[in-house]
Amino acid sequence: MSPPKTAVKVKSAPQKALEKLGLRRDIDLALHLPLRYEDETHIGVLQDARDGETMQFEGRVTDCEVVYRPRKQLIVKVQDPTDECTLRFFNFYPSQQKALAVGQQVRVRGEIKGGFLGWTMLHPSFKAAGGDLPSALTPIYPTVAGLPQAYLRKAVLAGLARADVSDTFAPGDLASFEGTRFKGASFEGASGQGIWTLREALGFLHHPAPDVSIDALHDHTHPAWQRLKAEELLAQQLSQLQSRRERAALRAPALLAPDSENSLHARLLSSLPFSLTAAQVRVSSEIAEDIKRPVPMHRLLQGDVGAGKTVVAALAAAVCMDAGWQCALMAPTEILAEQHFRKLLGWLEPLGITTAWLTGTQKAKDRRAMLALIESGEAKLVVGTHAIIQDKVQFKNLALAIIDEQHRFGVAQRLALRNKLQHDAMEPHLLMMTATPIPRTLAMSYYADLDVSTLDELPPGRTPIVTKVVHEARRHEVIERIRAQVAQGRQVYWVCPLIEESEVLDLSNATETHAELSGALDSPDVHFPVGLLHSRLAPDEKKAVMSAFVQGRTSVLVSTTVIEVGVDVPNASLMVIDHAERFGLSQLHQLRGRVGRGAAASACVLLYSSGDAPRLSEAARERLKAMSDTNDGFEIARRDLEIRGPGEFLGARQSGDAMLRFANLDEDQALLEWARKEAPLLMDSQPALAHKHISRWLGTKAEFLKA
Ligand code: ADP
Ligand code: MG
Repeated sequence: MSPPKTAVKVKSAPQKALEKLGLRRDIDLALHLPLRYEDETHIGVLQDARDGETMQFEGRVTDCEVVYRPRKQLIVKVQDPTDECTLRFFNFYPSQQKALAVGQQVRVRGEIKGGFLGWTMLHPSFKAAGGDLPSALTPIYPTVAGLPQAYLRKAVLAGLARADVSDTFAPGDLASFEGTRFKGASFEGASGQGIWTLREALGFLHHPAPDVSIDALHDHTHPAWQRLKAEELLAQQLSQLQSRRERAALRAPALLAPDSENSLHARLLSSLPFSLTAAQVRVSSEIAEDIKRPVPMHRLLQGDVGAGKTVVAALAAAVCMDAGWQCALMAPTEILAEQHFRKLLGWLEPLGITTAWLTGTQKAKDRRAMLALIESGEAKLVVGTHAIIQDKVQFKNLALAIIDEQHRFGVAQRLALRNKLQHDAMEPHLLMMTATPIPRTLAMSYYADLDVSTLDELPPGRTPIVTKVVHEARRHEVIERIRAQVAQGRQVYWVCPLIEESEVLDLSNATETHAELSGALDSPDVHFPVGLLHSRLAPDEKKAVMSAFVQGRTSVLVSTTVIEVGVDVPNASLMVIDHAERFGLSQLHQLRGRVGRGAAASACVLLYSSGDAPRLSEAARERLKAMSDTNDGFEIARRDLEIRGPGEFLGARQSGDAMLRFANLDEDQALLEWARKEAPLLMDSQPALAHKHISRWLGTKAEFLKA
């Protein structure tokens, strides 16, 4: 008799694990592809084993005992016709111990290690010897704890059998595309072309044919993989195209640039102490063209550190104010926001513009006054930190929001910004600025919904920064060099290392360095004051330290990484980064960008130490080498992508969910180009198929991609 059925279905642990992996629909299961394959089709012999390979053999258990030193473990010896192997288990059940009793014939499979004491395997899988051998390779799927391969495999195959895997684009659409052709004719799909249908590709990858070699599968150039990578990239392009088109249906104030000589824009331009670079002129007109349309702009302005993004932002703000609307500029840190505020005030106050200042730390009274200025519209320009997007802030008529160092803001903050700034069913135009240039392939894939403007030219008269990588043992020479610089009236930054998870250590390190440099530079006979900036200072104190340095009253600024972004003191000509090996590449480049802003020759010293280790890690060495090889932010960004992969690069833009799983932007650029061309064609000619494709691949993730 079967047990009575209960009304409520309780989900089993593996079912929950499937959901955790995001495998809810049949199609999700069908698109959950193997990480790799194992060859269980034949039995090897120990004599032919290679160290480190995964293999299986059959033999007789000759010894099985539990030992307690150094910790409890089961040690089993198995003999095959050629040799012996020791199996070791740290976790085991009594039933397993029984199955491995002396005299049992077993089939063992695992990674084999050779060594002084003979062959060993740690936690191999095993079963009774003599069972059937599978005829094809066994797929191994990405999984999580509590979800055994066998269960997952069954679920995937069942999902594949039920799912609709009909093509959303014909193999012919890819056929014209050279990069997808596979060299081996034997792999041609049933379609007779080098390109497979989705059904063929999935069938092949989940159920490899008996004669296929592991290498052909592990190499993602196989046509079945090409098909899946093309599918995935197309989904990404389609979803971004869709969000771009949805945005095109939204309304924004049309900000027409006036051509009058009395306009704020014209007066600002003529009052600047320099003339714009060609790149600044070009980028400014790209922005002007965009904001004069009644559709919200979403533009990323990228330009290397020191390229002069602030003045481009100010000119866009001027166009906005000329049209009678408000503009806001938001920066990720108070120091940076303050610096923008001062700079913009310097440019715009003489032209009669009232600028409001907003941060989380200002006094309630000041804040109320600012809020009133913003609400009445008297303040045409608002500068501040993310305090700008807090609830209390009411704009009269905001039309342009500028976000500096946009990658430092999280997805949630950016969404809040868009919601906050909407009014009268209008959205403001958005200009995001970044000094971390996005490599072309990333811009084309993850940022395809944005328009990108690039400042690819530095203002004239800058001398390139010379970067030196120096061992910690030569610290005293570096201090001598600082002394020489300050004696010539120059200023110096000294950035203290990031000490992971310890603000206290960070601080004590910065304090010690400050004492050390003060001792060397600021004594009764030589007088070069040294400032100290760290995150524990109150906002007022920070401000005081910063302005002392800006005004040249201190010669050296010792700082934790709070100065990382945007700080602009043209007289500073030497940057020392202590324990540079602990910093990320883009951070190093940002820090270095604090110098080389004036005409004086500038240098950056990367002090490193390998600590207790005999040498630096490979990645640390690559970072330091990249820094000494080039000053070019794009090249740095490219190398950073190489060292770290896109996951970290994108930071808060997207979580792992939306990452590409199969395609690799480095290797699959050609496929990416194809997807970029294909997406609008498909969306226009077969919108239903395009939507089916998006939902098939991205399901509920599509929304997230828009943030
Ligand atoms: P970033 O792009 O890193 O934000 P900034 O906007 O801070 O760069 O500009 C760096 C420095 O260059 C500032 O001192 C700025 O006033 C100056 N600058 C900007 N544009 C020009 C230009 N066309 N000619 C000369 N100096 C410029
Ligand atoms: Mg800047």
